[in-house]
Amino acid sequence: MPAFGAYYIRAAKAAFSDERGEDMSRDINALHPELAGICRLFLKRCEENGLRAGIAQTFRTKEEQESLYAMGRTVAGSIVTNARYPLSPHCWGLAFDIYRNDGKGAYNDEGGWFSKCGQIGKAMGLFWGGDFKTFKDKPHFELAKYLPGNSCKDLIDKYKTPSEFIKTWSDTVTQQQFNEMMGNYLAGLDKKAASDWAKDLLSQAVSAGISDGKRPGAWATREEVAVMIQRALSAK
Ligand SMILES: [Zn+2]
Repeated sequence: MPAFGAYYIRAAKAAFSDERGEDMSRDINALHPELAGICRLFLKRCEENGLRAGIAQTFRTKEEQESLYAMGRTVAGSIVTNARYPLSPHCWGLAFDIYRNDGKGAYNDEGGWFSKCGQIGKAMGLFWGGDFKTFKDKPHFELAKYLPGNSCKDLIDKYKTPSEFIKTWSDTVTQQQFNEMMGNYLAGLDKKAASDWAKDLLSQAVSAGISDGKRPGAWATREEVAVMIQRALSAK
């Protein structure tokens, strides 16, 4: 496994409870509903790009954050975080951490695996922990819009505690959120490569002038289908 910073390997160990004796939440539903939706789409998008990711951590309670903070300080082990409760976005349901779930090692970064996931997350409007200036945290993603400057300061000013913030969460998806999610989903289809079973037929359709062969995984409208049928009928 290439060396790429020991921080999240230690954090992962903590997450997988080797050093803590209890599980931290990996439940996507424990996240802010907006992030939960993006997180599910993100995992799907990664999968579509051949990157099978799993969720190592989502929401952290006060006890969990404080016990992580204690590691390497008042408890044996190495330091895994500089954030006390509630200074980590995980405490606000605004961050999740991934691991590599394809059997090649949970934190194996071979082939730039984590950076590839990072690019997918960034394209969906997330902040990627690999872009932290000093404390690179490649498995980490957070919902940037609530965390200006990657800081929980605004949240603390506005809500004081995570539990007050959580009271404002709504499971109702606004039209704007839905449009964003749908837009992300459709943009993902646009980037999908042609399926193996369709490749030959698709290139035949391109040669026959029926399709331009672009965006093979995207949805077609009825007018596009009508045009393709008409082209096929007039093809000799
Ligand atoms: Zn994290």
